[in-house]
Amino acid sequence: MAFLRLLARNRLALAGGIVMAAVVLLALVTPLLPLADPDVTDTANRFKPTFSEGALLGTDHLGRDLLSRLLWGTRLSLAVGFAAAITAATIGAAIGIVAGYFGGRIDNVIMRGVDMLMAFPYILLALAIVAALGPGLMNALIAVAAVNVPFFARNIRGITVGIAHKEFVDAARLSGLSDLRIITTEILPNVVPVIVIAMSTTIGWMILETAGLSFLGLGSQPPQADLGSMLGEARSALITNPHTSVVPGVMILVIVMAINLLGDGVRDALDPRLKSGALSRPRAATTVKRDGPVPAATGAGLLEVQDLRTEFHVKGRSYRAVGGVTLNVKPGECLGIIGESGSGKSVTALSVMGLVASPPGVITGGAVRYDGEDLIGAPYARLREMRGRNVAYIFQDPLATLHPLTRVGDQLIEAIRVHRPIGAKEGRAKAIDLLDAVRIPNAARRIDDYPHEMSGGMRQRVGIAMALANDPDIIIADEPTTALDVTVQAQILALLDDLRRSRGLAIVFITHDFGVVAQLCDRVAVMYAGRIVEEGPTAAILDTPTHPYTARLMACVPELGAGKRRLEAIPGLPPVVDRLPVGCAFADRCDRTQPDCRAGEIDLARHGARAVRCLHPVTPLREAAE
Ligand code: ADP
Ligand code: MG
Repeated sequence: MAFLRLLARNRLALAGGIVMAAVVLLALVTPLLPLADPDVTDTANRFKPTFSEGALLGTDHLGRDLLSRLLWGTRLSLAVGFAAAITAATIGAAIGIVAGYFGGRIDNVIMRGVDMLMAFPYILLALAIVAALGPGLMNALIAVAAVNVPFFARNIRGITVGIAHKEFVDAARLSGLSDLRIITTEILPNVVPVIVIAMSTTIGWMILETAGLSFLGLGSQPPQADLGSMLGEARSALITNPHTSVVPGVMILVIVMAINLLGDGVRDALDPRLKSGALSRPRAATTVKRDGPVPAATGAGLLEVQDLRTEFHVKGRSYRAVGGVTLNVKPGECLGIIGESGSGKSVTALSVMGLVASPPGVITGGAVRYDGEDLIGAPYARLREMRGRNVAYIFQDPLATLHPLTRVGDQLIEAIRVHRPIGAKEGRAKAIDLLDAVRIPNAARRIDDYPHEMSGGMRQRVGIAMALANDPDIIIADEPTTALDVTVQAQILALLDDLRRSRGLAIVFITHDFGVVAQLCDRVAVMYAGRIVEEGPTAAILDTPTHPYTARLMACVPELGAGKRRLEAIPGLPPVVDRLPVGCAFADRCDRTQPDCRAGEIDLARHGARAVRCLHPVTPLREAAE
């Protein structure tokens, strides 16, 4: 059902599907229609024009009714085309699965055979097969199916090789399943979508090929009509009576176009990567639909996030990932944002430069100010100018953000070139400088490495170097050390701290680890379910956490030499952001919950440098350290 809905969203595919359904329906009911016998000749009425009495589409060179021949011919052409496609797909897929699953010598022997078939131009091959078997519709079908088998075999083998070495297949093998069971229960369900896609995109081709053979007189034999033979017979009267060629020609065009449009739609809709999101590419900047007033600048920092709201609109639902976040960062300051996975940290960070994927992301309120300038309402050209130059990002997984086929030096130079023209020599020198700055030993040589030739820590250093490439004022680092081991993490943190001091960088550091915050950040904001629940100087919050959530988060951090202190996991899960509870979102997991916690909106109460969104804090804000 979801598949049909996705398919229907694609206008062209929908049109193709409707046309195809109509044609197939017509072909199915042809025997029931009050049509003239398609094979009865009536030479007295040769070449009657279209719309003449008793022959809606006219008659051909033997006086046969063209409408009747067209419908019967379409029926035959479709049947042969579909039969050829199914035959080719079944045989080809079977060959491909066997070759891909067993691999080794079996694979070699089978695929070399397939390669040999592919070495012939397929029309010639089809002609040769028909020549050997003799002309006739059945033989044309066999020929068309045979020349398409290699295409399916190659395609499916490739997919199967990829699947056959996945862990779930190994697990099935270890559990003692036979090869046949594994192929039918583990492999086949995973390749069926590919088979369907390959079929839907080649079926039109096969109808054309069959028509081609019939056109040459090698397929359907007179008096039987199919679209190809109708065209072939009309050829001699092409100039004098064009309608005899136009009628089957238009039908072939319509069928092949409709099938191809539908096939493309099926391919898009079956691709699991496209299923979850929209079928369209994300826009270059996040969609903005602010309904409230835009908050005025307060000059509280270099970067001010004011009451930011970002939602995801998926299938009629709104997921409120960020629900009114206010933050500010001063030049040279390091602000930590901490919270469990899913609390909206990344979405907050990406919203700053309009990098949240749209659709489905929409910024529905608030402002982000860089030096007073509102970025949420800024035109795309301005955002592009500022991305990387004023605010740069470092992401969690450098292997995923670096281009695997480009040398790291070239990627660094490209990052610079986006913002200013730079010559090859100067670019190289600058790239070496950058790698030096992030303390990659032997930078001059490393610059020619590919990302896979570096270790995880080194790749993250390259990620930092890219962020530094255009001397930004602010770096937003989204869990940059989560994928690294602790010793490398410590080095990266030290590096960031040095860069901050030497270059006067402001850093927004996103993490779920209080240990990291303690090492690096001046101030910290704790996020839960898309909102800031506590904020203040790092030392003060570490000393006396006031929000129960902060206290619980800190209890999750192991402490060296702390003896037998128990690590407390927080029970329950963060709330789903499309159905946030009224009042405190943490109430369900909190052990201090009172009835008033669920009564209504809870404000962020401020006292000095600290703020907390809680009615019953662990320590009252007045008494907490500042
Ligand atoms: P984290 O704090 O771990 O970085 P995120 O900011 O990535 O969390 O996510 C916040 C919320 O937004 C989560 O509930 C997540 O499911 C939701 N979300 C993130 N990206 C999308 C998306 N593309 N479509 C729908 N929901 C999303
Ligand atoms: Mg994240």
